[in-house]
Amino acid sequence: MKKEFVVIGLGRFGGSIVNELIALKADVMAIDISPERVEEFAQIATTAVAADTTDESALRSLGIRNFEHVVVAIGENIQASILTTLILKEVGVKKITVKAQNDYHEKVLRKIGADQVVHPERDMGKRIANNMVSNNILDYLELSDEYSIVEIRANEKIAGSTLIDLDIRAKYGVNIVAIKRQTQILVSPQAIEEIELNDILIVIGSDVDIHTFERKAL
Ligand code: ADP
Repeated sequence: MKKEFVVIGLGRFGGSIVNELIALKADVMAIDISPERVEEFAQIATTAVAADTTDESALRSLGIRNFEHVVVAIGENIQASILTTLILKEVGVKKITVKAQNDYHEKVLRKIGADQVVHPERDMGKRIANNMVSNNILDYLELSDEYSIVEIRANEKIAGSTLIDLDIRAKYGVNIVAIKRQTQILVSPQAIEEIELNDILIVIGSDVDIHTFERKAL
């Protein structure tokens, strides 16, 4: 069965989600209060509707509760974002993801039951900064305030060593959960696996430990 989603707010963030979901062959109902924005997505989304989502009856009449997952991508208007989320929760939408503008906004969204709160600008900023300060870290995914998963390129210093030789878990407190080698991916590599030059190590751990590993081991 095709997955059915709703995206509310068709700015840069919401619009990008619509485009991507459609490219992934999902069904998407795109909603915005602005008829011009809706017009822009009429040919792209499965359905595009002009509605004020702070109006409960308008949302109900769209049959919103039958969709699996609703994204609230209303940007500037924090009040409209919160009210919309509250109504979605009340009508019984199963999964709600909301874009937060700041920490206070996030706190309120979590209180009223948003399942997932995202900060695209802040998260992308952190990601880019992490890539900028390190020559070896290729990509970065924040798991929580303290923990992350990163992709680190193996250099000459560790190439040729096995995971046992490096004793990474005991020395640095981080774990290598997978190794990408050209087109191959070795998930949960064995301790005797020998690291090759330019392998990409997928490392999980606390940010502090990851940085120590990256500074000292590489
Ligand atoms: P971005 O930073 O992602 O570009 P914007 O703030 O530009 O976000 O876009 C948010 C969108 O949400 C706008 O297109 C705006 O018309 C829409 N929007 C704002 N309030 C409502 C509302 N009450 N109901 C539906 N859509 C709304």
